[in-house]
Amino acid sequence: MTSPTSSSDLSRREQIAHGLAEVEAQIADACRAAGRDRSEVALIAVTKTYPASDVRILASLGVRDVGENRDQEAAGKARECAGLPLTWHFVGQLQTNKVRSVASYADYVHSVDRSRLVTALSREAERAQRVIGCLLQIDLDENPGSAPRPGAARDEQARGGVRPADALDLAALVAGAEGLRLAGVMAVAPLGAEPGKAFARLAEVARAVRAEHPGATMVSAGMSGDLSEAVAHGATHVRVGTALLGRRKPFVR
Ligand SMILES: *Cc1c(COP(=O)(O)O)cnc(C)c1O
Repeated sequence: MTSPTSSSDLSRREQIAHGLAEVEAQIADACRAAGRDRSEVALIAVTKTYPASDVRILASLGVRDVGENRDQEAAGKARECAGLPLTWHFVGQLQTNKVRSVASYADYVHSVDRSRLVTALSREAERAQRVIGCLLQIDLDENPGSAPRPGAARDEQARGGVRPADALDLAALVAGAEGLRLAGVMAVAPLGAEPGKAFARLAEVARAVRAEHPGATMVSAGMSGDLSEAVAHGATHVRVGTALLGRRKPFVR
């Protein structure tokens, strides 16, 4: 990794400030179109594949929420950025063997989709003496079990999720778990689906969960390509990477 000189730092800052202004304008437009107040929608900057220096720039520009999807990468970045006034959101598929690490820095986990994960998160949150906000990741794919589709990168983000019919059972489990707080629901619009339709479905699930758990108010939906549709359907948190920081290089696991 090269360490940027101060002049390239400056241009990176300008780039990010420009991206942030555009995303802000898009969120503001979407709120206006939906008759919602701008304050109802929070921006989570998804910083995966980008260095801690970018996180620092985002923080200096007023961003307060950052999202990461892989523990190996997130743990170090969170450590480097300790001391910044940031809330850390873990938005990727979470394996139980990574839960102890994630529980040490994540304020929210958006990808809670199975009971084993709830048990592990609860245990590690208690051990760390932290309270972790949990969002149930909802699988909005109407054709589960269909053959692998093209667009692997998108599928990667959508992987996992609890079926809408099972969301209330999982919600009850989270609500009753020590160290966890049921915060809401999250989804990625399935590849090939109309985002508006998918997010309308998510809004229904969100309402059903909220009816039993009034504190579960977060609706995490919308990325660079579909944040306006998400805001139209009640998203309280949009997760934006590309539109803020640029197109990611594909990475190899
Ligand atoms: C990468 C990622 C995002 C951000 O996607 P962009 O299209 O770059 O805005 C949002 N949510 C999840 C779960 C992701 O993995």
